[in-house]
Amino acid sequence: MKCKFLDEKCYEFHEKDSGEQCFLCSANSQHLFTVRQLSSMKMVHLCGECMVNNSSEYLLDNTRPWEGDKGSSR
Ligand SMILES: [Zn+2]
Repeated sequence: MKCKFLDEKCYEFHEKDSGEQCFLCSANSQHLFTVRQLSSMKMVHLCGECMVNNSSEYLLDNTRPWEGDKGSSR
């Protein structure tokens, strides 16, 4: 059986990431982005402002295997 979460460990969230607040400024934003922290290679949630201000350290990750099939547009 094909498991789309096979690489789940590649998408481990940072232990201090809540998923409800910005990882950096702790803002309770409704529009948090899932990004990868390059220093730890873990996923964190950032508000738009922090993402822009720290774009060299955090990469927007569009693969998000938990939302659907990888590599397909639909
Ligand atoms: Zn923020």
